[in-house]
Amino acid sequence: MVQEVRIARRTGFCYGVREAIDKAKVSASAGKQTSTLGQVVHNEGVIRQLQVAGVRSVDTLDDVNGGAAVVIRAHGVKPEVFERAEARGLEVIDGTCTWVIQEQRQLQELVDGGYTIVLLGTPKHPEVVGLLGFAPDAIVVDEEEDWVRIPSRKRMALITQSTQPPWKFEKLAAYMVSKAHELKIVNTVCPVTIRRQEDTLETARAVDLMVVVGGRHSANTKELTRLCSIVGTPAIQIENALDLTDAAAFARARVVGVTGGTSTPLEDLREVAEHILRTGGTPEIAKRATELASAALDAVATPAGRTTSLPRATPASVA
Ligand code: SF4
Repeated sequence: MVQEVRIARRTGFCYGVREAIDKAKVSASAGKQTSTLGQVVHNEGVIRQLQVAGVRSVDTLDDVNGGAAVVIRAHGVKPEVFERAEARGLEVIDGTCTWVIQEQRQLQELVDGGYTIVLLGTPKHPEVVGLLGFAPDAIVVDEEEDWVRIPSRKRMALITQSTQPPWKFEKLAAYMVSKAHELKIVNTVCPVTIRRQEDTLETARAVDLMVVVGGRHSANTKELTRLCSIVGTPAIQIENALDLTDAAAFARARVVGVTGGTSTPLEDLREVAEHILRTGGTPEIAKRATELASAALDAVATPAGRTTSLPRATPASVA
């Protein structure tokens, strides 16, 4: 039975997601009608919290009233989205992550340099859709079976969506060496993604079972689960504590590790830790589940890793 839960270091929201959330909250608390263009993260708890703070999520700019504020989320958008928003008289609050802005600039330089560009990424992912606004002719490839579509050209460049696994980027770079006379490689894998993978591996090596918390379709979450199995630690991937319905999963585990994707708030990790201790722990441990889960979080989480750097807004404070 479970005697201890360890949370991986440097989990919680990445700085890009946190900044976008904070900008939306600041706008709403200043009394502005505020919407995010698309869900800022696919996490129900966070979306609810934003609604309470007065921030709603819209699918298109047409759903935002003239004069209201619209927040661009961390993934960024095509340049034309900014133009359309401004033409509609909206106040645009740019929450594009600084790393993604840099990526967009580098992509633009490759376009200006006349390279045939290969972009490693998930074709419909919002970050990739935004990047294609800068390089409409870029060839987007994801899994290895896609790579046969890459042509041979004299001058080629390779760049990547920020959350792609580094090993895949390196493998594709090696594959492309024989495709071009000149190959320019721009490594835009986000350092936050790399650090998170390192910390997850460190935890996975020291525990009997890992629980990975994040969106079902999140590429960076799936990669964390894959890495756990590579070091031989069984891993369960869930969206939140409610998905942990089988207490028997913890019967053979003494120490359980918990980690999360870049869109998973620390609060969710604490809840998962508490649930594991309460349902899978010894009677003595189960009684102290709340206290032990908070201690596990405090042992690793720095204030910078918290869900948001701002105090939570209340309906009264944003009215
Ligand atoms: S994963 Fe990295 S690039 Fe993507 S939003 Fe977070 S900090 Fe920015």
